[in-house]
Amino acid sequence: MTDQAFIREAVGGADLNALRIALFQATGDRAVAAIPVHRIDVRAGAGTTYEVAEEYRAFLIDRAVDFLSAAPHQHIATVPTDADLRALMELVTGGEPISDMDFDIRKPVPAFDDYPRTANWAGPRARLPEDFRVVIVGAGFSGLGMAVQLERLEIPYVIYERRGEIGGTWSINTYPDARVDTPSAMYEFSFEKRYPWTEHFARQAEVREYLEHIARKFGIFDKIRFNRDIKGGVFDETASIWRLEVADNDGSINTITANFVVSASGLFSSPRQLSTQGLDSFTGEVVHSTEWDMRHSAAGKSVAVIGNGSTGVQLLRRISDEANKTYVFQRTPQWISPRERYGEPLSLGDRWLRETMPYYWNWTRYTSTLPVLNLYQFLVPDPEWRAAGGLINRPNDALREAMTQYIVAQVQGRPDLVEKLVPNHAPFSRRLIVDNGWYRALLKDNVELVTTPIAAVNSEGIVTEDGCVHPVDMIVTAIGFAVEKYVWPSDYVGRSGLHLQDVWSRDGARAYLGMMVCGFPNFFVLYGPNAQSVSGGGGTIPTQIEMWTKFVAQLIVDTLERDHASVEVTADAFEDYNARLDAAAKKLIWLTDTQSTDRNYYVNNGRLQVNMPWHYRDWHQMLSAPNLADMAFT
Ligand SMILES: Cc1cc2nc3c(=O)[nH]c(=O)nc-3n(C[C@H](O)[C@H](O)[C@H](O)COP(=O)(O)OP(=O)(O)OC[C@H]3O[C@@H](n4cnc5c(N)ncnc54)[C@H](O)[C@@H]3O)c2cc1C
Repeated sequence: MTDQAFIREAVGGADLNALRIALFQATGDRAVAAIPVHRIDVRAGAGTTYEVAEEYRAFLIDRAVDFLSAAPHQHIATVPTDADLRALMELVTGGEPISDMDFDIRKPVPAFDDYPRTANWAGPRARLPEDFRVVIVGAGFSGLGMAVQLERLEIPYVIYERRGEIGGTWSINTYPDARVDTPSAMYEFSFEKRYPWTEHFARQAEVREYLEHIARKFGIFDKIRFNRDIKGGVFDETASIWRLEVADNDGSINTITANFVVSASGLFSSPRQLSTQGLDSFTGEVVHSTEWDMRHSAAGKSVAVIGNGSTGVQLLRRISDEANKTYVFQRTPQWISPRERYGEPLSLGDRWLRETMPYYWNWTRYTSTLPVLNLYQFLVPDPEWRAAGGLINRPNDALREAMTQYIVAQVQGRPDLVEKLVPNHAPFSRRLIVDNGWYRALLKDNVELVTTPIAAVNSEGIVTEDGCVHPVDMIVTAIGFAVEKYVWPSDYVGRSGLHLQDVWSRDGARAYLGMMVCGFPNFFVLYGPNAQSVSGGGGTIPTQIEMWTKFVAQLIVDTLERDHASVEVTADAFEDYNARLDAAAKKLIWLTDTQSTDRNYYVNNGRLQVNMPWHYRDWHQMLSAPNLADMAFT
């Protein structure tokens, strides 16, 4: 029997709105359903949360404690019918009706089904050609997500991974304080329930362990060939087969075949290297954030940190705690803002509740998405608002003001810092960065913010354009990734000798729905060009991976069920899609805010490259099932 005081404390710290719905679902207690909630705007209207009315909190807590003190384990959890689920979702928001389309989009979020977003055979599994197999390139989040789809469909596959372990991003980046900046409750697959995260924002090692757990639990691990680098391949049009070249660790090359290739090689796989003049003459250490491992230490050193993107901001506090002196080189100020519970452990009570209270985990997933549902409004400039003197639109300007005040408060109003730290570009025109004590670190006596551009590196350290030399023992570069190099450096040769890298080097990487390229049959890219939905309801990357992999798996199924050997996007569909995409992108702040387009990784050569420009509702419509009219089968 669990201690009453423990239960009460756990319930007191719970997401009470999620608990209210879970308790009602478990007990049918109408008095619990009738508890009112208040709608509260968060992040200057970026989204909303719904909080249990103060005067009902004690009542709800008492009811929940009673239920949890009895025998919660004896409750037999059931999957609600669509009608019940819809009613429960409406109850979360105090009775606001949910449209058919929104219900369809949001139904998988509380993840009551075992596999909320998966492809399916129309009938029994189709007969597969002899030796049929899919090759997945990469064993990161995307590759594993793809493998789970194929496992369920009983379609044979092999994963080739050039590293010696699972995890991709989460195996490579082991710099100080590397962790997710989206809550772990949202940065997970919906088919793995109640994973016992220990922190609200999991650290790198925990995410890597999670992915290893997924690989073992879903029977994927033995199908991964580690230390195998796919160099590229050629599509054999007669046989409808890909012949791929694989390099082993010893450099030997083998050829393997695949009926379908799914490149899950990652957007952040090619670190951008510092190329400053004189770098070779530097006598100290130069470490890219992706190269940082246990052998590196800043202790007692004079260190330069170059970069203030997500990584540079994550690692500064720890480096500056250990170093004697830290210079922070900032090229462009960024919008860096706090996240609730960032860096905090999940309490024992929290973890116990997720495990013990039926449906609570499901509803925390649902409530945690509400604050980010309206992000799209930040991206669309309002001409009337601008004509009246505003910068972008009402919510975006309000957010800018709130975030400016945060910066001022963090640096204790120091005008010299405020002037250097408040960006010119609009919030959301670049990725928002989560503050890991970055501004506070700048206040330390032994930390210096340098905004004069870097001119060169000499043997002693970094020389800025004003001629100043900043002597350092170590340069840590957190300057990001060559995100324009998709699927790099592998080269795939499609129909008529067409090289993918040639096609993409001509006018930038393009794909249909971020996944398919005209002239490349049976070939898919995950996290490809313009694949990323940042408009809120698109969900975090694992959710998007579920959508992308469902789409790919469904097209493989559709091909097999039609007894075809290959599928590709038609030229017309490819061109039309990209024309619509470019036209939609031109209307959003990523391209209209001229303060941001330069050196913004979303944009490459003046074209939106990483994100897709539509509202998540449109995105969902496009991805929910392949449009076979856009496909050519042979
Ligand atoms: C430091 C950092 C922090 C991040 N934090 C977040 C976050 O908080 N929230 C969020 O939503 N996203 C975050 N991201 C984005 C993150 O990359 C994705 O969320 C996700 O991990 C991408 O998974 P992936 O499998 O697509 O790619 P990756 O994780 O990059 O995996 C690709 C895999 O493919 C392998 N590979 C590549 N080429 C080949 C080849 N030719 N042959 C064989 N194997 C190959 C690589 O070795 C790698 O293992 C972060 C990214 C970085 C770099």
